[in-house]
Amino acid sequence: MCGIVGYIGAREAYPIIINGLRRLEYRGYDSAGIVLNYPGSNELIKTKGKVADLEEKSKGKQLNANIGIGHTRWATHGEPNDVNSHPHLSNDGRIMLVHNGIIENYEPLKIQLKEYGFTFESETDSEVLANLIQYFKSKENLSLTEAVRYALNEVVGAYAIAVMDNESSDEIVVARLGSPLAIGLGEDEFFIASDASPFVEFTKDAIYLEDGEMATITRGEEVIVRKIEGNEIVSPAIQELQIGLEQIEKGGYEHFMLKEINEQPKSILDTMRGRLLPEEGLIRMAGIWDHKEKFYNAKRIIIVACGTSWHAGLVGEYLIEEFARIPVEVEYASEFRYRNPIINKDDVVIAISQSGETADTLAALKLAKDKGAFIYGICNVVGSSIARLTDAGSFTHAGPEIGVASTKAFTAQLTVLTLIALKLGNHNGNLTTERYRSLCYELMNIPQLVEKALESNDIIKEIAAKYKDSENALYLGRGYNFPTALEGALKLKEISYIHAEGYPAAEMKHGPIALIDENMPVIVIAPKKGHYDKVVSNIQEIKSRKGKIIAVVTEGDVQVRDLADYVIEIPDCSEEFSPILATIPLQLLSYHIAVMRGANVDQPRNLAKSVTVE
Ligand code: GLU
Repeated sequence: MCGIVGYIGAREAYPIIINGLRRLEYRGYDSAGIVLNYPGSNELIKTKGKVADLEEKSKGKQLNANIGIGHTRWATHGEPNDVNSHPHLSNDGRIMLVHNGIIENYEPLKIQLKEYGFTFESETDSEVLANLIQYFKSKENLSLTEAVRYALNEVVGAYAIAVMDNESSDEIVVARLGSPLAIGLGEDEFFIASDASPFVEFTKDAIYLEDGEMATITRGEEVIVRKIEGNEIVSPAIQELQIGLEQIEKGGYEHFMLKEINEQPKSILDTMRGRLLPEEGLIRMAGIWDHKEKFYNAKRIIIVACGTSWHAGLVGEYLIEEFARIPVEVEYASEFRYRNPIINKDDVVIAISQSGETADTLAALKLAKDKGAFIYGICNVVGSSIARLTDAGSFTHAGPEIGVASTKAFTAQLTVLTLIALKLGNHNGNLTTERYRSLCYELMNIPQLVEKALESNDIIKEIAAKYKDSENALYLGRGYNFPTALEGALKLKEISYIHAEGYPAAEMKHGPIALIDENMPVIVIAPKKGHYDKVVSNIQEIKSRKGKIIAVVTEGDVQVRDLADYVIEIPDCSEEFSPILATIPLQLLSYHIAVMRGANVDQPRNLAKSVTVE
């Protein structure tokens, strides 16, 4: 996490960096800072709080330099306060550094540096690196690039860094291992950022550093990329950016989250575009087709993911087992990577991650790759670490997701998983052509049904007003909608800070039922298809204990309407597609409750998007 921005060129760096930090604030927002590099001096401003606080603190300062670096933080080492904020300076005040990641061996390095006479102001791991660079620079009389390289060779952990030196206001050195870093190439100017959003309006050409690479960016010269370990020069690939400015702005909505919820008819369609061709009776997915033998010969598929993506993985398990009859296991990446899992050469491991940078998922994939499994990625961000590591994959094409709580990326993940399951099932003969075709046609229509599901916004707002002060909530669903219940509960927790639990509806009687009283809202996902009668019995059980029932039902349902306090209708569809539709009202419910409680919907406390620390 943490967002890094840098600029070197002819323009004033400050507005570009501040604007960039605002765009990267989704990555962390407990403190922010900037340092501008003037010949022989610098202007350092940093503060606890948001980028807006940094702007406030910057008023009245000299801010006309045309080289600088900035940072928006998600603290790992040391509480969010002014001192722990980045940028960090070395003891001699010359080295300026911003860091995203964790220096795992910072403690022994710090002890060593203290022995050499260094002192430390902050509790961060990052300050150690600034001093280590100073140490090498002065002891060995090295260039900034060499000093950074020497220092990084001493470091264990993960990082993206940007470093400047007071001696030269014409140079920024950057490096990456495990955390993303992009360099935007303008005409006689360079931009540095954790993702490309800070510089999309300036250039479409970017270099994404690979793990283990560093770059020297000098005014008026070519960017020089080299290996941190071996020092050999590499020639970097220049990528053309696919995103436009309109995609990273709010477009008239009050929050990114609301914009992204409403974008889902389009993002799902974009995810299916060019892939789902029911007229021709096929699903085109090169990633699957080119490696179909791997999938058909797989003894099992293991899906690794975290958070919302893990919930998508659970739905994926149901879909792939149902349509293709290939056994699937779904694992939390963070558990999988540390529990010595059994991975065979003929396993297929699918990683799901919106950012493609999720540290635990990335590590789980590396482990699977080392053991010889075929690894497949489902990511939203093109050029991301997971996308580059995997043997093959499918992008979700949901467009940039900026709200920290994932919405459109989740339904896009469900869409990709559905396409994969249908394709595999069709080709390995587990789905009859007739069923396959009818499911394909139905899937084609899902974006329109999502549009209809969004029409329930007003009733959802009413429900939100009624239950916004609840302290707890229970979400129940069965079959395909058990993961939907988990996702609904997670969404409520994340942005409204109401304690919520998701359960398979039938598990309620094994414990959670004890919590039900007249103050407990229970959100039950009860579409007509699937295990409807069983869910209706569960609803009866809640009603008998005076729980408040909010039910997500198929339009026209009367049975549940009679039992529930509120119903939210979604259009009729096959059970296998119902998580996509049932998720929509749950996203809206969380959104409205959070807004009514005055929470910061796009930047919920303690959270950050793109979890690049483990
Ligand atoms: N470890 C650094 C700190 O706590 C950077 C944190 C991060 O990248 O999230 O300041």
